Amino acid sequence: MGDLVFAAPPSVLVPVQGGGFFPVRRIYCVGRNYAEHAREMGHDGREPPFFFDKPADAVVIDAAPIAYPPQTAELHHEIELVVAIGRDGAAIGEHEALDHVYGYAAGLDMTRRDLQAQAKKAGRPWTMAKGFDQSAPIGTIAPASAIGHPASGAIVLSVNGAERQRGDLGDQNWSVPETIAFLSRLVTLRAGDLIMTGTPSGVGPVRRRDVLEGSIAGVGTVSTVIA
Ligand code: MN
Repeated sequence: MGDLVFAAPPSVLVPVQGGGFFPVRRIYCVGRNYAEHAREMGHDGREPPFFFDKPADAVVIDAAPIAYPPQTAELHHEIELVVAIGRDGAAIGEHEALDHVYGYAAGLDMTRRDLQAQAKKAGRPWTMAKGFDQSAPIGTIAPASAIGHPASGAIVLSVNGAERQRGDLGDQNWSVPETIAFLSRLVTLRAGDLIMTGTPSGVGPVRRRDVLEGSIAGVGTVSTVIA
């Protein structure tokens, strides 16, 4: 084996509450996982979960600014519970799913809504609407060993101090164990994977210099500013 032809890209690391860093492998995201948000996006009824992804290096560490991305006039916020996988598994059963969770964080699934609408209309992938640079600000990861496995609790996002989104983790169409079971039948989950579990209603646009502050009861916070 020869030398690397250029320096390997740096690992993507998310700080862990109490010390240390969680190395990120992949980021999966669940679409339309709260009924009210599904309705505001023009859908109704409980459908099987579906998934899209973001590149690992879309992660932005808590409180760091993000650039307003190019090629959009409609950058939206989506506050989400992020599940951090700590143990490999495929075809994981619901009853063992939480054993694969290292911890939880609050995160933002930043979305170029105009590009997403164009992609939906054309039946094209969402990659450029969801997986762009700096599209995944993520707060400090709280280990499940410290906080347990929250199945209910307020999930809230404010912009410039004004509340924009409020929901409850208990209102997810698909719970964390159900989501892990579904996703791990499609792909093998590995330690380092993050799952963004969908957003409650109230998504909307942000502008340059807006300050975004998200919180999830019993989990933590995430913040960023649009530079
Ligand atoms: Mn989302």
